[in-house]
Amino acid sequence: MTNNSVKIKTRFAPSPTGPAHIGSIRTALFNYLLSRKLGGFFVLRIEDTDKERSKIEWEHMLLKSMTWLGFDWDEGPIMIEGQESMFDNNSYDIKYIGENGPYRQSERTEIYKKYLQKMLDEGHAYYCFCTKEEVEAQKGYLMSIGESPVYKGTCRNITKEDAEERIKQGKKCVIRFKSPEKHKIVFEDLIKGKIEFDSETLGDFVIAKNLETPLYNFTCVVDDYEMGITHVIRGEDHVSNTPKQIIMFNALGVKPPIFAHIPLILGQGKKKLSKRDAETSLEEYYHEGYLPEAIINFVAFLGWNPGTEKEIYSMKELIEDFSVEKIQKSGAIFNSEKLDWINGLYIRKKSIDQLTKLCIPFLIEANLIKRHAAGTYLTVDTEELIPTYKIEKSVALYQERMKKLLEIAEFTDFVFKKDIDYDKSLLKWKAMTEEETIVSLEKSLELIRSIINFDKENIEKVIFSEAEKMPNRGDLLWPFRVALTGKQSSAGPTEIAELLGKEKCLDRIELAIKKIKYA
Ligand code: GLU
Repeated sequence: MTNNSVKIKTRFAPSPTGPAHIGSIRTALFNYLLSRKLGGFFVLRIEDTDKERSKIEWEHMLLKSMTWLGFDWDEGPIMIEGQESMFDNNSYDIKYIGENGPYRQSERTEIYKKYLQKMLDEGHAYYCFCTKEEVEAQKGYLMSIGESPVYKGTCRNITKEDAEERIKQGKKCVIRFKSPEKHKIVFEDLIKGKIEFDSETLGDFVIAKNLETPLYNFTCVVDDYEMGITHVIRGEDHVSNTPKQIIMFNALGVKPPIFAHIPLILGQGKKKLSKRDAETSLEEYYHEGYLPEAIINFVAFLGWNPGTEKEIYSMKELIEDFSVEKIQKSGAIFNSEKLDWINGLYIRKKSIDQLTKLCIPFLIEANLIKRHAAGTYLTVDTEELIPTYKIEKSVALYQERMKKLLEIAEFTDFVFKKDIDYDKSLLKWKAMTEEETIVSLEKSLELIRSIINFDKENIEKVIFSEAEKMPNRGDLLWPFRVALTGKQSSAGPTEIAELLGKEKCLDRIELAIKKIKYA
């Protein structure tokens, strides 16, 4: 596949018309992996020819998403150093790296103009003055006789002088590519194999509205050529663009890149991918607490499979094991439960220190803690200093359960809040009456009071030895745990009691008793 003397060059060429999502990141990833695997280059190019829909904000978001996910590129726009903080609302200064810039198509008009003029001069393209209505009528007629509804070249033979004269007179026109007649366009797709198109099905398509306004298929060809792109991996939805691009490369007298069209991403049961999964932005994944490593690992498996049991891959390992041959031909299935599972796995791989650092922004966002001087934190409710080891302990208690970092706030809010809110019926274990629940809670109160050295071992000794005496351990442990957390499920009661400290435990149990008695 590769020529050892020439380094391969791939590119990711998104249109900044919306946020980056899983589908676009997959295209970026496969191109990235291929270039890194073969020691080549990776280019990021912004395809903003659609002026109405392209926005600089989307471009910034895209750069942030890619930076967050751990991509690096050899050419293209990058955010100026020191600004690569995550998804905040700042706007960013951007510079280009690489020698083939600018890397925004909107800044390459002069380059395209040169190539358009060359195509016109050499007779590969021509000005077309047909009105929209005329073109539509022609297409309608062709359909009625069972032919492809394409532009058949009415204006093909207008001479250059005639065309220039009409333009001078202010006649509206577009620039069309002169497709070769009765010609088979064949290319070997690295994933799909041999693909054939008949040039008759393309017709003479529009490549520019005018010299200053080229359209996607044309700009893409010029850029892939000018930037020395050797391999193009992109979504299957671009297959129909490929023959058009190939005949334009031919017209320029240059070799087209090698194409690989990746299968669509489908939803469960091979249905169309849900709007949510298709459109969830990377920023949203970030805000829900997905880790970049988990997203990369998940996305890699959307259509690629190493053919082994191994499912957990770092970016480095992906680079080592990636090959286009292992991209599957059929649609990739998006399974959000699998993403959660992988994310949970990466969460469990973190050290407590790392995980706490990642969770703190979520606790702040949930208004449970706030930053204080020099890396310390206060609870929002009572403005008490909350030692880092306490945050770490809270995080550690839930490391096993967390699927997304966002969940930390809901799991541990009882640690940071002054008052917890829950329904008193939750305090009852199975068929317990209110009276029995009060008796149980009063027992806990007495036991907690009796513990001098309030650590997990002592709490466990005292509480469990009493619980074992009951007909069912839950008779003591359930009301006790709910009183401390206000939650149906949580980590174990003794760890929680230790984390809260004696005073807070006593307050909460007393409150629970009052809740039953008076609420
Ligand atoms: N700008 C195109 C898109 O975002 C990509 C074109 C290509 O990869 O050739 O769909």
